[in-house]
Amino acid sequence: MASTPEFQHTVGKTASLSGTALHTGEKVSLKLHPAPVGYGIKFKRKDLQDEPTIDAKIDNLKTVERATTIGEGSVRVHTVEHVLAALSAMGVDNAIVEMDANEPPIGDGSAQPYVDLIKKAGVTVQEEPQKFFDVREPMHVESKTGALLVLLPDEKFRISCTQAGPNNRFTQFLSMEVTPTAFEREIAPARTFVYYEDVQPLMDKNLIKGGSLENAIVVRGEAVLSKEPLRFADEFVRHKILDIIGDLALVGRRLRGHVVAVKPGHATNAELVRALAREQTRRSAMAVSRAMPAGNGGLDTDEVMKILPHRYPFLMVDRIIGFEGENKITGVKSITINEPFFQGHFPGHPVMPGVMQVEAMAQVASILLFKLTKTSSRVGYFMSADQVKFRKPVFPGDTIFIHAELTRARGNRLAKTKCHCVVNDAVVSEGELMFTFLDK
Ligand SMILES: [Zn+2]
Repeated sequence: MASTPEFQHTVGKTASLSGTALHTGEKVSLKLHPAPVGYGIKFKRKDLQDEPTIDAKIDNLKTVERATTIGEGSVRVHTVEHVLAALSAMGVDNAIVEMDANEPPIGDGSAQPYVDLIKKAGVTVQEEPQKFFDVREPMHVESKTGALLVLLPDEKFRISCTQAGPNNRFTQFLSMEVTPTAFEREIAPARTFVYYEDVQPLMDKNLIKGGSLENAIVVRGEAVLSKEPLRFADEFVRHKILDIIGDLALVGRRLRGHVVAVKPGHATNAELVRALAREQTRRSAMAVSRAMPAGNGGLDTDEVMKILPHRYPFLMVDRIIGFEGENKITGVKSITINEPFFQGHFPGHPVMPGVMQVEAMAQVASILLFKLTKTSSRVGYFMSADQVKFRKPVFPGDTIFIHAELTRARGNRLAKTKCHCVVNDAVVSEGELMFTFLDK
């Protein structure tokens, strides 16, 4: 299966699986459905009103305590890493994971049940090419607890992992190329393991109501307790690799690179994914043409002012360079020392206020929304800003490229956009902006 890795894949038909949720101990059934190209992996909560879906993307990552939890609004899905690892390693890019609970079945604590499920459903090739993340230069993240993840350029997706328990007990090492065949044979059967000293507090916190020796290996001192004997002498490092693959799936692209991991855990895995997502954002911004078009394609200042009511000194976009498809727009603003805000921000050390960059994002995004609504009777109002980060200062003389992408539209009422400002090929600020449409 998945013999054409350069194309996207989904499952051939719906297949289902039921079992027990690890944390709540409740019964849960899970269905894997085919999904169209570009859909990615989304979890659907069939048990909730309106059956909300949650995108398996790093932006939706909520917690990493022992397992990986994603969510949007108040909706959560816990322990997504094993099902994501199986989908990603078996080459499934697009699928709906429908569940009637907040967590997939734990099965035997490995990814084996999900590999079986995917094989039952089949993997079929789709028409669109695959999206890759190619590692171009070394990146790394580390934690105070000694976890270290290094990402190196490689033509293949490889993982070299060192696992070590307390006092370096059960130190194990494995290096492999991640392919569907290797995953199925070497990684998928490896089960979750816990240290005895960690189990009691988890039980006290009610974090593992469905936990038993049937779905986890318990390590106590030198002894290994489980219902079934170890499946591999180095089962622990194999499960660590499984978790890395599952967490890295939150990038939403196939990785071409070599992950070198020392004592990895969900928290550092997630941090690496965040770093990859930031780098991807930077690259996408670079890929946009920066030439100033005349006439078609972009909008000059006059045209911008026909759409936006803002005027000097509050017009924060000079031109629209272009639109990409229906959902993307790039604007430009040249910042000069004559901007009035430099007088007070700060005398002798002029720095563009971050809020003015957010305003610039809002203005560019509202031009995109204006184009989308295609009607002049409604106007988009800037409602809220989330996840706003200012990464680098902006100085007089800088040219800001303002990118906005529509990420979600609910009916005709609400729209969510992801925006970022770029100066000299570096992201200087970013944020998620929400808009509401009202009649004029
Ligand atoms: Zn795991």
